[in-house]
Amino acid sequence: MIYSNDHAAFDRQHLWHPYASVTKPPPVHWIESASGVRLRLRDGRELIDGVSSWWSAIHGHSHSALTAALRVQGEKMAHVMFGGLTHGPAIELGRLLLDIAPAGLEKIFYCDSGSVAVEVAMKMALQYQQARRQSEKCRFLTVRGGYHGDTFLAMSVCDPAGMHTLFSRVLPEQLFAPRPQCRFGEHWQPDDSAELAALLAKHHAELAAVIIEPIFQGAGGMWFYHPQYLRELRQLCDRFDVPLIFDEVATGFARTGKMFAAEHAGVSPDICCIGKALTGGCLTLAATLCTAKIAQTISQGIPGLFMHGPTFMANPLACAVAAASIKLLLNSNWQENVAAIERQLRHELEPARNLASVADVRVLGAIGVIEMRQPMDTAALQQFFADQGVWLRPFGRLIYLMPPYIISTSDLTQLTAAACGAARLQAVVSNGAQGWAIP
Ligand code: PMP
Repeated sequence: MIYSNDHAAFDRQHLWHPYASVTKPPPVHWIESASGVRLRLRDGRELIDGVSSWWSAIHGHSHSALTAALRVQGEKMAHVMFGGLTHGPAIELGRLLLDIAPAGLEKIFYCDSGSVAVEVAMKMALQYQQARRQSEKCRFLTVRGGYHGDTFLAMSVCDPAGMHTLFSRVLPEQLFAPRPQCRFGEHWQPDDSAELAALLAKHHAELAAVIIEPIFQGAGGMWFYHPQYLRELRQLCDRFDVPLIFDEVATGFARTGKMFAAEHAGVSPDICCIGKALTGGCLTLAATLCTAKIAQTISQGIPGLFMHGPTFMANPLACAVAAASIKLLLNSNWQENVAAIERQLRHELEPARNLASVADVRVLGAIGVIEMRQPMDTAALQQFFADQGVWLRPFGRLIYLMPPYIISTSDLTQLTAAACGAARLQAVVSNGAQGWAIP
């Protein structure tokens, strides 16, 4: 077969993009390079990356400290297997992680991506129960409106009305409490956790673990909920002896204004997934952390090993750049930077609330959300945003901003103006072709 010389046509014809058709491919921008908050297109135009490339590039793109870490490590070794071998970058990163991780987490399992970190967490919970001779505890409880990834166990705990319904026949059936209703910053309503409590009371004997995104539900609806919900959940899990998994893949590394979202509630999980911003958006790397109790129980059970071990586990390049990214974050004034972004997002997105097309505006940390009343034509909006010089990727009824923490006030204003402009335009025709919200 002779393939087209036209590279853009080759992309359209042969390359699958995320959540996309390959016969009716969505429009894509061709990015030549990226630095700071700017993505540089082939035709010379620049777009401000308002979503930190799926919430990962917290320091912006091509940061000199991160590219230096990649170069230095690349010259030493790009990769060695982690089975039977170890190396400095894995150890250095581990030390940095344990210094900042929620209290009580002591053991680290490095893995490939956020979804795999969730698989690993769920496997840990299952092996923990098996090791305690309680193999019947093999279901998971979560809340509606969540998102935990695209692999199979992760999909089983995503919102059951979401895009993974396609696979429901082959997904294990998990238990779902209602989405926490009480908002972050609102007065706590004790009823909010009532159904969760009832589900735990009824089903704890069959539960391997509870899994939840702490404080911020991301791709399942961009929703901030009350920290008291997590405190109640922690108490319930303790009372019924059910391990608690926090999926901090989206929230970790200061996105909500705390290093980890769990800190808003002052509670710690038994198992915790991190990813996305771990490498500052440079390479794919994730990790699942757990307590000594979980790890020791697994290790004392049969077969006494944790049964997971990916080829690229603890990839030295990825660990080196992750260590550099964490040091960069810790040496920056991240609390003030994120707080300043939060103040500006609140101030500049708030006027959108008065628009008839807007259902809600909400902000926490470096996350700003405009929720529309109707689903949007995301392809048309993407063009609109490119014309405004920004890169935002709305989905469903949600226009959201998650900029790099280094963004300037004027660049952030350009983003918020574009987001409010889009809401004003009411470019809202149903994109109900699939009916799913595609992040
Ligand atoms: N968990 C959460 C909370 C996420 O937001 C995501 C990705 N959006 C994932 C897991 C999956 O991560 P990845 O895309 O790296 O597999």
